[in-house]
Amino acid sequence: MSKFACQYCGESLSKDLIGLNKKILACSVEKFMCLLCLADFLGCSEEDLIVKIEDFKEQGCTLFK
Ligand SMILES: [Zn+2]
Repeated sequence: MSKFACQYCGESLSKDLIGLNKKILACSVEKFMCLLCLADFLGCSEEDLIVKIEDFKEQGCTLFK
């Protein structure tokens, strides 16, 4: 199990999600959210976030390596 879990529902987080949290909420963030809670927090859909992850990967963002 990942040492990172969603601060709201306790769901363990994938590497991609941790990268997305850092990217969106700033690198110093200590509390992470799962896709569902992050989408809710940002007021967007899960699909939007998945697209964002792919965008960041394509940009070669080091947080997703
Ligand atoms: Zn959650």
